[in-house]
Amino acid sequence: MANSDPNCLFCKIVSGDIPADIVYRNEHVLAFRDINPAAPQHLLIIPLKHIASLNDLVGDEDTIIAGQIMQAAKVVAKEAGIGESGYRLVFNTGPDSLQSVFHIHGHLIGGERMGWPPF
Ligand code: C5P
Repeated sequence: MANSDPNCLFCKIVSGDIPADIVYRNEHVLAFRDINPAAPQHLLIIPLKHIASLNDLVGDEDTIIAGQIMQAAKVVAKEAGIGESGYRLVFNTGPDSLQSVFHIHGHLIGGERMGWPPF
């Protein structure tokens, strides 16, 4: 599969064609502030490679990418000041979850006390 999808909004953020408030980048992933924050801290962690959703993670390379997203989330949470107070990493997947952008992304949310269950 191609590493980038020309029709994908988040691929355009990766390439710089669409601006975003980027807070973290390494050779595998990118993190930026959600334009419509649902919490005091709301960041999106995405792989540079285009993968549509969690359901589309295939093979060892994508398994490594999933781990890289989680490793980055830990670092980004710490840099956002919520590493100790706590946070959630949410991967909306499929229609019931209301996933709207089909480039896998972890919503890193925190900065306030949350409830459970989340709906
Ligand atoms: O999980 P879901 O696909 O619904 O999340 C997509 C997220 O991407 C939304 O929270 C939306 O606010 C965010 N977004 C963004 N920047 C864009 C377009 C969407 O932060 N340019």
